[in-house]
Amino acid sequence: MVKTIKNISENTFQALSSLSKTDIIDLLHSKGILGDDIRLTNLFKSDENNFSIHQLNEKDINFLIKVFSDELIIPNFHSFSEKITEITKLVESNCNGSVANYIPELKSVDPKHFAVSICTIDGQCYNFGDSETPFCVQSTCKPINYCIALESLGEAKVHQFIGKEPSGQRFNEVALNKDGLPHNPLINSGAMMCCALIKPEDTIAERFDYVKKYWSQLTLNRGPGFDQATYESEKLTAHRNYALAHLMQEIQAFPKNTSIENTMDLYIRNCSLTLTTSNLSLAAATLANGGINPFSQEKIFSNETIKDCLTIMSFCGMYDFSGEFAFKVGIPAKSGVSGAIMLVIPNVMGICVWSPNLDHYGNSVRGVEFATRLTETFNFHNFDSLVGNSSKIDPRRHFSNANFDI
Ligand code: GLN
Repeated sequence: MVKTIKNISENTFQALSSLSKTDIIDLLHSKGILGDDIRLTNLFKSDENNFSIHQLNEKDINFLIKVFSDELIIPNFHSFSEKITEITKLVESNCNGSVANYIPELKSVDPKHFAVSICTIDGQCYNFGDSETPFCVQSTCKPINYCIALESLGEAKVHQFIGKEPSGQRFNEVALNKDGLPHNPLINSGAMMCCALIKPEDTIAERFDYVKKYWSQLTLNRGPGFDQATYESEKLTAHRNYALAHLMQEIQAFPKNTSIENTMDLYIRNCSLTLTTSNLSLAAATLANGGINPFSQEKIFSNETIKDCLTIMSFCGMYDFSGEFAFKVGIPAKSGVSGAIMLVIPNVMGICVWSPNLDHYGNSVRGVEFATRLTETFNFHNFDSLVGNSSKIDPRRHFSNANFDI
């Protein structure tokens, strides 16, 4: 077996040796490995005219061999991308819904914006449309706030203060569960509670910096930005969120000594961070990859944190449409009122769709249609069987030679 793999590697290496740098880059592109991939900086920086694969170091060569021996999670990335583009174009014609209008910064966003970005656990990327246009993350920051709280306090402590049930109500409903706690970490009350749990002993500047550092790690320092105007507007109009915070304070739901002012400030700051779909798909890919950034290989969140977050995302991430979404689409997701939806296919890929027109639940119309068509086409629904006949496409690599001996 070892000999066979070695032969494949040698053949791949021989084949690569005869190619020019441009040919290799074109081939990499068809596999979803893009020109800004930090794993191949040496190749991208090398001199086009005097290029030889022998100039690359062992790590670079091993990575190229892995790519061209079809060992990435989506081996036929080209066909997969074509199918995604087909879906995306169908979805683009849907102009239903309307933009969020509770603050001027969201109301004035062009509803025609549309972007889809995908990043696999092996760092294969796909981008469509306005994938480099920044937008406010809004509630798509909530899974990350939750992960950060879990990392610092652990699941048992965090869930002393937050439930694990869908609320069945609007995301900003002034309502708590029967224990007087937020229903879950992905609605406003629960997200505020997560913010209350993040480094409460520190100053607001330090706490916000702490959250931003996580986003930087998730996005390879490509984000996040910050929308000051959105922050100011949100602060002036967040009456319902303040009402929720005061209600929780009154019944002592928060940990002792919680400052509502600071908690609300951190919550609003986090919602006002800006990212692009290409960056948010990197964060989603890290959630898909057991908390490890596919490019830097940095372990950002523990396996337990990821399991808890994806579980809650699978039944609480789409407001009071979450049950329907879990049934029909069947993947962990989180949407925000800016029209972003983060989707996670565990152990395969992260996706971000952005299109500002919302339905009456507050979910992006095109985002929901994209997700629906995605799992109608590919067998990505949580409960799609990987064996037996299916009309759906399975694009992922299977480890047929996996060795389960213990
Ligand atoms: N800033 C918004 C709020 O707190 C975020 C809500 C959302 O995206 N659903 O109401």
